[in-house]
Amino acid sequence: MSLSIAGCGAAPTSSTRAPSESDASASGEASASSESDSSSSAATSAATASSSGSEDTSGAETTSATTDGRRVLVGGRVAGGGRLDLELEDGFITAVGVFDGATLEGAEVIDVTGKWLCPAFIDSHVHLAYLPVASSLAARGVAAAVDLAAPLPFLERLPTRPRVLASGPMVTAVAGYPTLGWGANGYGIECADATAAVAAVDLVVSAGAAVVKLPITNPPTLDPVALAAATARAHEHGLKVVTHALEDKHVQLARAAGVDVLGHTPVLPLEPATATGWGGRAVVTTLAAFGASQATLDNLGALRDAGATILYGTDLGNSQDAGIQAAELAAMMTAGLDGAAILAAGTLTPASYWGLDTLGSLEVGKAASVLVLDEDPVSAPMTLSAPAMVFMDGELLP
Ligand SMILES: [Zn+2]
Repeated sequence: MSLSIAGCGAAPTSSTRAPSESDASASGEASASSESDSSSSAATSAATASSSGSEDTSGAETTSATTDGRRVLVGGRVAGGGRLDLELEDGFITAVGVFDGATLEGAEVIDVTGKWLCPAFIDSHVHLAYLPVASSLAARGVAAAVDLAAPLPFLERLPTRPRVLASGPMVTAVAGYPTLGWGANGYGIECADATAAVAAVDLVVSAGAAVVKLPITNPPTLDPVALAAATARAHEHGLKVVTHALEDKHVQLARAAGVDVLGHTPVLPLEPATATGWGGRAVVTTLAAFGASQATLDNLGALRDAGATILYGTDLGNSQDAGIQAAELAAMMTAGLDGAAILAAGTLTPASYWGLDTLGSLEVGKAASVLVLDEDPVSAPMTLSAPAMVFMDGELLP
């Protein structure tokens, strides 16, 4: 179905309301919504609702020549829960709840009856210097991304949308990964020893890095002393350390060095003790980019069972689909994550983990970065890969 967008500022004589047929369904939705509202998900804050829901939206059938800069999304439902209207103003969510006519008056009303709402996504593993598709990524619903290897100058010209937390070059060994392959042109800083690795961390931090990336591979790779020293230095700077470690022995080295995040789900089988040992740390999924083998899927399940923090990520650049990737969502489902877990891995969990405080939930004060979806992502997570509408900081992206 198509969505109705009424009251655009460019059409000063237009109604602020959607056509009457959607009014009928919107008010029917409102009158039936009181039970589900009371149980709506934790993503909403009842305390900030601007009305109780006892009054349906038909009271808003006013027309106005101009809007006051507010947008309201009316008639949708929150992922996994009940009816939720959102007010967006100056780039932020300014009210949530079930709105009455007073809230709608003067606002640009966007009827999303029959649709579902969730926060915009965070991709915790991309390469936007390697594959410069930032605008496409945002347009398909990704509000923030963690860029895990780029030449140093990239740190000075980060995309603004999506918001990017970037590592800059990996801190690696002389001739280490990825300097002899895809990352030959500045994607790694080659370090001979611990002193050089610490200096490299200082260099990327001074250039603006928000995270540090240390690959751990077969030789040449940084030795355990250098890994531990570089990790400690990053932590002194207040930054988390992500590794590229694809097999058991390298995950063990990462653990010993104090690394925080596996930038990929390892692709070779992990020993149970290795997975358990990673329980208090984090892993970025990147299942589809590596073919989603059974061993990889099993590793993600084992890490999750161990209590590891699961972060949705695609390795965009290695993978090519600039958006919330259907292949990654499908692989996460195959690995045993349900819709709620997938949604968390792409929204609230990474927002909290990376300190992206304005993202991750639909609450007053959060960024107005919102996905409008055809289905409930909790029961049908694949709908995330093709949002019906994407709002970023209150702006409806084309
Ligand atoms: Zn990568």
